Amino acid sequence: MNRQDEYSDLNASFRFSVLEFNALFTSLLEHFEIWAPQRYAARGRFSDADSIGYGPIHSPNEIVFDEKSHFSSKEAVFPVSETMFDLLGDEFVQAEDAQRDILVFARPCDINGIERLDDIFLRNGSVPDPYYQRRRERIRFVLMECAASFENCFCVSMSANRTDNYIAAIRWNSEHVLMRIRDKTLLSLVPDNASPAEFIPEFVEEDREPIGLPNGEKLEAAIRDGSLFEHDMWEEYTARCIACGRCNTHCPTCSCFSMLDIAPEPESGFGRRRRVWAGCHIDGFTNMAGGHAFRKDNGSRMRFKTMHKIHDFNARFGRHMCVGCGRCDDHCPEYIRFAHCIGKVTRLLESGDHE
Ligand code: SF4
Ligand code: SF4
Repeated sequence: MNRQDEYSDLNASFRFSVLEFNALFTSLLEHFEIWAPQRYAARGRFSDADSIGYGPIHSPNEIVFDEKSHFSSKEAVFPVSETMFDLLGDEFVQAEDAQRDILVFARPCDINGIERLDDIFLRNGSVPDPYYQRRRERIRFVLMECAASFENCFCVSMSANRTDNYIAAIRWNSEHVLMRIRDKTLLSLVPDNASPAEFIPEFVEEDREPIGLPNGEKLEAAIRDGSLFEHDMWEEYTARCIACGRCNTHCPTCSCFSMLDIAPEPESGFGRRRRVWAGCHIDGFTNMAGGHAFRKDNGSRMRFKTMHKIHDFNARFGRHMCVGCGRCDDHCPEYIRFAHCIGKVTRLLESGDHE
């Protein structure tokens, strides 16, 4: 009996020594491009600070298991800068995409974050975004077990602490690796002499600092009558926010982008269209032809983001956009806490002070 028949439910768990896992990882690299959180030395927010972000890796030693990554896994499916097409004279040439499947090591909040991006890019209009879709179809997840909250996390409050969307789950320590496998290709790579184990990934069950979400009906009513939008609570953010956009770039669910064009050169006829991340906090984001701009003050940008994350998206897709990863709070240079902003809205609606 081969291993796939033996584990026909495709829910097999194994215990690997670190050396055995390294060997399995080498086999995985033959089938997948592998993305995981990794450390970029001296590329953090201070001159001597590291940054932990996502990119392709070639060894398990590169994976940062024990810290929350600064940037999310969304870069695997929605690059910071992406060429869409080139112009060559009268010819239009769509940018090619790689063909290999991508295995992304991610925590539950980040897998849930990519599912929110799926809503935006694949289900928000009559036609899915083809650039996102072709990359998304190649992506599979390895769940990094995340059984305890990091600082500023509130994924439980946002119902984004659990996921079933993975082909393998992993629990890592310095001695051994536990792995649950639910995919035929992965299972076929496991050596016959691998040690079976009992492993079901655990999930965070409690936030360190739970937040209370606003009552949906009260929120809807306060939006409709304008009382929340006009409330002076947003002025604090006009005073404090410096529109740096870090909260947007660190967020796993912010999906806005701008088009950047290289205009066709007169002689060669070569031109290029790219899209690059943009953010609702950044100056110029709402500029329109003719010079008009919506949301000029930073408080109204904070209000827009807040409503998008905990109201508008939910009204359209039936789940909140924010997954409670806390990265916006981790990285705001002005120590603005988005979690506290949600709490303020909740308390305002409960107290009726907005009326
Ligand atoms: S809004 Fe903040 S907490 Fe929510 S998903 Fe984005 S970065 Fe994470
Ligand atoms: S990270 Fe903070 S200061 Fe920067 S745009 Fe976001 S809320 Fe404003």
